[in-house]
Amino acid sequence: MSEPAIRISGLTKTYAGGKLALDGIDLEIPRGSIFGLLGPNGAGKSTTINILAGLVNKTAGSARIWGFDIDEHPRNAKASIGIVPQELVFDAFFTPFETLELQAGLFGVPPARRRSMELLRAVRLDDKAHVYSRTLSGGMKRRLLVAKALVHNPPVLVLDEPTAGVDIELRQQLWDYVRMLHAGGTTVVLTTHYLEEAEALCDRIAIINQGKVVANDETGTLLAMAGDKKLIVTVDRDLDAVPPGLEGLKGAELRMGRVLTLTYDKRRTNAGAVLANVAAVGLGVVDVSTREADLEDVFLDLTRG
Ligand code: ADP
Ligand code: MG
Repeated sequence: MSEPAIRISGLTKTYAGGKLALDGIDLEIPRGSIFGLLGPNGAGKSTTINILAGLVNKTAGSARIWGFDIDEHPRNAKASIGIVPQELVFDAFFTPFETLELQAGLFGVPPARRRSMELLRAVRLDDKAHVYSRTLSGGMKRRLLVAKALVHNPPVLVLDEPTAGVDIELRQQLWDYVRMLHAGGTTVVLTTHYLEEAEALCDRIAIINQGKVVANDETGTLLAMAGDKKLIVTVDRDLDAVPPGLEGLKGAELRMGRVLTLTYDKRRTNAGAVLANVAAVGLGVVDVSTREADLEDVFLDLTRG
């Protein structure tokens, strides 16, 4: 019954100009999770993160970080969270080492407890510790921002679109590092519009769309919500059309003369029954393969319309 890492209730944001970006968000992010906040561009992910970071003022609702209300205990709330912003903002004329020392100073970390070099090693920037930050590549800047978010050793790390526009190799490295932090006990929240990123990393996922939470569940449960499954069946003779009598299916398509794609609801029937159906209309089955629904199917389902 421990307080969740983050608890958001009725969070609402209307920007000056009238844009309703958050329309009453409720979210609980359990301690120890890798939590994905997934949604298309403009859904309200950064607005949510920036309210937690104290960068954007909410219009209504409340948020607690590690048990601290962001209005009542802003200092404790801020001390409990490290945020890697979506934009690559950094101090061009400081070195990575100076950047971390300055940030540690801002958070009141005494010099004896600073660990700037250790953090630079962790994000593999120790060889760049004393060059100007403006000479770093995009990927290095992203890593520096991760280190910067960790100077005060927060129990919660939030990464806003950490791999947007980042190449595959670096994406993999960042994922590994995030997994390592998580294994060490850090609660990780990441926003992404990449489905495969959420699927690969997160144990729980909330999907937000147009400022509303449209799903919030364990990754596996969300995947199971995608009920449709496809059987791709090669039969023993050429067909001109889908034979009549393939009932109980959500869809049947003839792709090439002998290959049928049969879509069924796996909550209602199973592959054996579908294949029995194929045999019952007088066709021999030569080959079968299946395709499981993925997060994209769930996502499209939930964000449609
Ligand atoms: P996401 O991070 O999910 O892509 P954002 O939270 O950045 O979405 O944006 C949510 C909505 O709020 C979008 O329609 C966006 O255009 C709008 N928005 C974001 N920031 C501002 C701002 N500073 N002023 C006005 N509208 C904004
Ligand atoms: Mg964003």
